[in-house]
Amino acid sequence: MSITGIIFDIKKYSIHDGPGTRTTVHMKGCPLFCWWCHNPESQSMTPMILFRSEKCIGCGACVRSCPNKAISATEGTLTTDLGLCDGCGICEDVCPSEARELCGREYTVEQLMERLRKDEIFFRGGGGVTFSGGEPLIQPKFVIEALKACGREGFHRAIDTCGFVDKKVILEAARETDLFLYDLKHMDPKKHREYTGVDNSIILENLVALSEFGSMINIRVPFMPGLNSDDENVRATGEFISKLKGITGVNILPYHTVARGKHQRWNMDYKLPDLLPPTENQTRRAAGILESFGLNTHIGG
Ligand code: SF4
Ligand code: SF4
Repeated sequence: MSITGIIFDIKKYSIHDGPGTRTTVHMKGCPLFCWWCHNPESQSMTPMILFRSEKCIGCGACVRSCPNKAISATEGTLTTDLGLCDGCGICEDVCPSEARELCGREYTVEQLMERLRKDEIFFRGGGGVTFSGGEPLIQPKFVIEALKACGREGFHRAIDTCGFVDKKVILEAARETDLFLYDLKHMDPKKHREYTGVDNSIILENLVALSEFGSMINIRVPFMPGLNSDDENVRATGEFISKLKGITGVNILPYHTVARGKHQRWNMDYKLPDLLPPTENQTRRAAGILESFGLNTHIGG
């Protein structure tokens, strides 16, 4: 039987997810619940249906087409019973006004490869495929098979990971990966747990393991004022990374407010409604600290 994975988005022409121009495959599901998550719809493994009432023209096609009778119309208002919905995506396909959007579709590795082969012409400047999320390695069998298939096609392969995965899995993936984009969110275990739901010990251990394995690793530091932007944390980050081999550079990713809108769109609570992006001075200061450890530091993706 073919291995399948749940993918919630495939973005071509990505220029911030590794070298060159790439296609980024966003796998669904994540073991972390970061307060600032830019893809909150990716956190659950289960496919989700988004309904935009302002786009609905009331044609009823979705109600008639749903094989599970999950959609009902009462006095002109559509309701979806998520207990009945199995995420088949038929209502999205039949909706003429893009009022329904399915987040999370099942793919076989071959279906994904068919899609990626169409993008190959755009893989310029060392580009290729990046598996991101959510957390891609939460679906290890699918992602490792897809990495092997990409390798057979000669595509450059990157994994964008939070690092909170089984060490055996990440080292198996490392054999099929040209570059890791590795998130470091906070060096203090208690604060890491507060902001993401888990402490950072497995994440740091896996980073060391990848480094010792010989992987190429680009560190990504999401940078949120007041959460992880203090000099002490930035220094601790620089000190830790500077002792590792295989680090190609560090990218500081300044917080931006897109996460707020995304949470609203998916009717999810957002814990940082008033958080503003860092100032240029704050970001430059952090970059200066990281550079003082001899790290090749960039601001942005
Ligand atoms: S995704 Fe499928 S099961 Fe769910 S509401 Fe749409 S048609 Fe019905
Ligand atoms: S198919 Fe789309 S436009 Fe028609 S009733 Fe359903 S959501 Fe509204």
